[in-house]
Amino acid sequence: MEAARIGVVNVPLFGEFRDPSELVRSSGAELIKLSIDPREEPEEAAGKLADLDVVIAGSTPIYDRRLFARLPRLKAVIRWGVGYDNVVLEDATREGVIASRLPAYVLRDSVAEHTIALILSLLRRIPAADSYVREGRWEEGDVEGLRELVGERIEEKIVGIIGLGNIGLRVLELLKPLKPRRIIVYDPYVSGEVVRALGADRAGSLEELLALSDIITIHAPLTPETRRMLDRRAFEKMKPGAYLVNTARGGIIDPDALLWALESGILKAAALDVFDPEPIPADHPILRRGNVILTPHIGSGTISSYKRMDEYSIQEALRILRGEKPLWILNPEVLESPRLRAKIRV
Ligand code: NAD
Repeated sequence: MEAARIGVVNVPLFGEFRDPSELVRSSGAELIKLSIDPREEPEEAAGKLADLDVVIAGSTPIYDRRLFARLPRLKAVIRWGVGYDNVVLEDATREGVIASRLPAYVLRDSVAEHTIALILSLLRRIPAADSYVREGRWEEGDVEGLRELVGERIEEKIVGIIGLGNIGLRVLELLKPLKPRRIIVYDPYVSGEVVRALGADRAGSLEELLALSDIITIHAPLTPETRRMLDRRAFEKMKPGAYLVNTARGGIIDPDALLWALESGILKAAALDVFDPEPIPADHPILRRGNVILTPHIGSGTISSYKRMDEYSIQEALRILRGEKPLWILNPEVLESPRLRAKIRV
């Protein structure tokens, strides 16, 4: 029988911290690492993925009907992560493809710690301070430059958390010992009772959170409801001089409105691990703004998270290939699909 092929697509550091060939060896499956330009046409991308049985997928490209329809051999797409906004579940189900992702605990703490690092980097101007030293301005005695490095205390700040799921909750826990003035949460699916029990206050609306917060941090998934949730109207409701942190998904923020807010002073500064589009094109105006800290979607990027993400995604792939039920399936109704059953028995 032909060996099953597992493709790792757009996860450049897969296998860097743990040799994944060990994990597949006894299964006989073959592991292939691929990269696809997210701007590629589906026909072109499908050509590269055509002989795969399972894809372990990065946060690009988009896996929708246009791809699935061209990949009759594909049995499953497993997100190497938790956000699955680039996998269209209805399309996967219709085409008989299992969609799965990793459990939140493998990366929750890493993303939350990155978020805290970004909040403190904004308040203490860490990247600008680093440049000040490297560029010799310390030695020159540049007082003007030094003045710009004077930071702010979190104790004086109201922090607003949008989305209190796994990551938002861990951010809240990590913030509490830093003693911000107040923590406010906006999450329409979490009750005021739960929020109060955590020592925070629930905002009744997004507008309320925007109007009160000095630091806003986003931890909601990208869904039709949250896409462009922070648009020009939302920025207009913010406290002038607020800070914004986004480690969730770029599509939650309208990039033009964000640029406007950074220019107009509505935002003092922003720290972004995610952006729309990704990667950020080299000529994008956001790269020319001094009041922005950018990281390349590395919220979950710690050795311990990456090791577990590699291991768990391979294990889920092998379960599916053995015909066992996937542990973290997102579209369980597909298990009844004759189109999936024609490919594999689960
Ligand atoms: P989660 O599903 O546990 O939590 C998401 C929370 O957002 C839920 O409590 C939900 O009720 C809330 N929510 C949904 N719609 C909302 C809305 N309209 N307004 C406010 N809140 C809303 O997810 P998680 O594990 O905490 O992850 C959150 C997001 O972080 C993921 O969806 C993913 O996009 C992103 N993420 C980024 C990285 C990174 O490397 N930067 C890594 C992992 C996850």
